Amino acid sequence: MIAENLKYVNERIQKSCLKAGRDEKEVTLIAVSKTKPVPDLMEAYQEGCREFGENKVQELVDKYEVMPKDIHWHMIGHLQTNKVKYIVDKVTMIHSVDSIKLAREISKEAQKKQVTVSILIEVNVAGEESKFGVSMEEAEPLIRKIALLDGIKICGLMTIAPYVEDEEKNRQYFADLKQLSVDIATKNIDNVNMNVLSMGMTGDYAVAIEEGATYVRIGTGIFGERHYAV
Ligand SMILES: *Cc1c(COP(=O)(O)O)cnc(C)c1O
Repeated sequence: MIAENLKYVNERIQKSCLKAGRDEKEVTLIAVSKTKPVPDLMEAYQEGCREFGENKVQELVDKYEVMPKDIHWHMIGHLQTNKVKYIVDKVTMIHSVDSIKLAREISKEAQKKQVTVSILIEVNVAGEESKFGVSMEEAEPLIRKIALLDGIKICGLMTIAPYVEDEEKNRQYFADLKQLSVDIATKNIDNVNMNVLSMGMTGDYAVAIEEGATYVRIGTGIFGERHYAV
């Protein structure tokens, strides 16, 4: 099942790139494996997945320990400052930075472990109450502050769009995030690049790619529905 799902997702990514006149090499699929057991991740790995996304520190660390070492791990969920130390030297990128406090902690732990951590700034484009992330207006001031910290490299922006039945409803949010990243890129802030746009999930990745996504984060579309323990 996972193999077939992956084939379907990869074909849709290709089609969306074609439609948008983009090179498919510009778009990387992150397999979002939260709540899923290791054998499921291994199946995706065997099908060629090397980018995995998790939203909980403990789960990421547990899977990191047992999965092959050539995997790139992406922290995509809200991150508490007291847990930063467990992942700074394990993740390829932290997608969910939305405060100077969190960035300072990442900087501190990165310097202790002598690594540079690539991060994205999470933007709550739709202004949803329930979501983490800074507003569109807050993004640049925050980026200017974080850019001064050692051990951190800002690589772009991330958003979680609203849950919608019709992905067209999210097109404008993705276009807005892209525009924001272009605007910030033109400011040429030291230690900041805007090469990465992490946007698009199972329900809306085709539209996200048309609007410029470079990472799409797909869980359900690859691994099936998630069942949360109660
Ligand atoms: C769970 C999650 C995803 C994947 O969601 P699906 O709808 O299952 O594809 C993507 N991004 C983040 C931040 C998530 O928490």
